[in-house]
Amino acid sequence: MHGQTTFLNWNKERIALERIKSLDPIAHGYMDTPYYVAYSGGKDSDVLRILFELSGVKYDLVHNHTTVDAPETVHYVRSIPGVIISKPEITMWDLIVKKRMPPTRIVRYCCTELKERGGQDRFVATGVRWAESVGRKAKRNSLEIISPRMKDKIVLNADNDESRRMFETCSLQGKRVLNPIIDWTDDDVWEFLRYYGCRSNPLYGCGFKRIGCIGCPMAQDHERLRVFGRYPQYRAIYIHAFNRMLAARRADGLPTDWQTEQQVFDWWVHSTRRRREVEDQIRLSEVAI
Ligand code: SF4
Repeated sequence: MHGQTTFLNWNKERIALERIKSLDPIAHGYMDTPYYVAYSGGKDSDVLRILFELSGVKYDLVHNHTTVDAPETVHYVRSIPGVIISKPEITMWDLIVKKRMPPTRIVRYCCTELKERGGQDRFVATGVRWAESVGRKAKRNSLEIISPRMKDKIVLNADNDESRRMFETCSLQGKRVLNPIIDWTDDDVWEFLRYYGCRSNPLYGCGFKRIGCIGCPMAQDHERLRVFGRYPQYRAIYIHAFNRMLAARRADGLPTDWQTEQQVFDWWVHSTRRRREVEDQIRLSEVAI
């Protein structure tokens, strides 16, 4: 099974396994359902999957199909033994029409409805890591309680005994979240996967740094253009969805500056760059004053 002789950061593996085992909801009797392991098909979730396999605890490995996953990701996820593939009630295309607008960085409705659904009142494990974004270091930790009735979530440290006790006995309803590899670096992730002989999602071998939905508004403009160059059929399906969205807006009497679905697509794909251009113009005008 091992693709290389040592996993250099074995201490991180030990700590991550300790986090998983010490909070096992079934073994400790504070929940009657096993861990819900969120599996996206990306490298971090592969680490998570292998750690849970090593840990010996009970868990459900769940992949939320979004309807805009890359075909390579769909095939890869289907090849993973035991994975539960959960299909959404609505496709991205129908969601765009229903919401009367494309998903954007600010109005990211698709994540809630497609990618992050499921796991309510379960103990969810994710592959979230601080190294993925600067903001995460301040807002995330190895343990979290997300209650639908609370605006803010409770964030705790799984390596602290008192925090663990508080987490287990907290009476708040909602999603409990364990992020066992929160402190892993990219190198830790790749070394671990090599050590355990994980072949990973083939998109990494095609030069992709992140595995996400096709056309995700959270990606940079150049990444989105590259993705639409690779999957032109998805470009056509998005444009068709924008056509239906415009028809629905007109039927509702909603205002719109877009005349055609192609204009919507161009605005949508270049929105990050355009926003930056506007910001740069504002900065330049401030300098001129
Ligand atoms: S497209 Fe992006 S924002 Fe939408 S569900 Fe996928 S990852 Fe989330």
